Amino acid sequence: MTAFRDRIVALDKRRVWHPYTSMDEYAANVDPIVVVRAEGARLFDADGRSYLDANSSWWVASLGHNHPRLVAALERQARENCHSALAGMTHAPAAELAEALCTVAPRHLERVFFSDDGSTAVEVALKLAVQYWAQNGRPQRTRFVALDGDFHGETIGATAVGGVELFRRPFAGVLAECFHVPSPGDPAVALEGAIDALADVLRQASDTIACVVVEPIVQGAAGMWVHDPAYLRAVRELCDRYDVLLVADEVFTGYGRSGPMWACQHADVAPDLLCTAKGFSGGMLPMAATLATERVFAGFLGSRERAFYYGHSFCGNPLGAAVALEVLRVYEDERVLERAQPKAARIADAFAKLGALPGVLRTRALGMIGALDLPGEGGYLADAGWRVYEEARRRGAVLRPLGHVIYVAPPLNIDDADLDALLTIVSESVAAVLGAGVRGTA
Ligand code: PMP
Repeated sequence: MTAFRDRIVALDKRRVWHPYTSMDEYAANVDPIVVVRAEGARLFDADGRSYLDANSSWWVASLGHNHPRLVAALERQARENCHSALAGMTHAPAAELAEALCTVAPRHLERVFFSDDGSTAVEVALKLAVQYWAQNGRPQRTRFVALDGDFHGETIGATAVGGVELFRRPFAGVLAECFHVPSPGDPAVALEGAIDALADVLRQASDTIACVVVEPIVQGAAGMWVHDPAYLRAVRELCDRYDVLLVADEVFTGYGRSGPMWACQHADVAPDLLCTAKGFSGGMLPMAATLATERVFAGFLGSRERAFYYGHSFCGNPLGAAVALEVLRVYEDERVLERAQPKAARIADAFAKLGALPGVLRTRALGMIGALDLPGEGGYLADAGWRVYEEARRRGAVLRPLGHVIYVAPPLNIDDADLDALLTIVSESVAAVLGAGVRGTA
């Protein structure tokens, strides 16, 4: 395999521009894992080693890699129709998926707009919100509100509502206007202060605001910041008071990642627009959806000019839809959420214990997420996390950090033995780095 591996790495280094990667560092220092096979919570490399995939490959493989029922659904659909457009035509996978999705969705979400990934699901929500007001009597409502630390994706619209300054900085001149308010997930911000800050913005500017966008309960890319559900309830009340649309970006939190099917359920809140991707897709093909209330949908009726002129080539792709439909069936047949509960308890227990390690600043866990903060400055660019990554890789896990935040978000159906192995690797790797003296060095 070594010759094969060397050839792939050489081609990769010559041609591939990697996401979220400083490419000069990559070229000089990174010896990438070459994945040749994936199954359950494990990735297998070209040298025959296996690695536990601690973040479900950027949070998509909530049912693990290559779930046999998803592979079978993909094969079945591929024999019938790989792609036909959804403009003015339809097909069974899209229609059945939309129905199944609305059945499990928070109340009042009755209409489904398909797109490709989390970013486009958010882009759809933003455009729906602006166009809704433009043609329903409030054309001045063109701005957004989102939280500090938020992450909503890569398009220019999603970047505008993103709350990580590093990611917004190069595009500052071209982004839509967004008020960023303090997040209650930030350890430096109190719940009441966060609610008051949002209330102030809406009191002063609601006439110009199309929607408030939140990552409900858990802000993933911020570093797994967890909110008190009281915050989301307050956001809903404020949106109701000022008649501003509430967009819940459940791209990461949906499909049981935080415990219930949707993070909004922690607060018993229903948004006006809900974005889903990642777990929704089964981790096999790019697939996403934006769900809307009947009120929003009705705002696009009445004449041709009022239609939503938006649609990607692969909108509602039959392969992606067939897999996503099978995902919902697997969730039900395999009682995925119920069976994840004891696994979530193991994660919570392991991270609580890690909190006792000298040098760990704080820990948190919710559902199938566990996270801890290492000391050090540098935010997303901090390198303490990468030292833990190297330790974990040596021990057989891919533990990609978020700056100085070490976290796990494994498949919801990870084997207990794999989960225990992963949690052991996390604690050994963190201990190894802290033992080597990360304090103050990152
Ligand atoms: N929203 C959230 C909350 C996310 O975490 C992400 C991706 N990490 C996105 C949107 C964008 O999703 P995608 O990468 O599939 O475009």
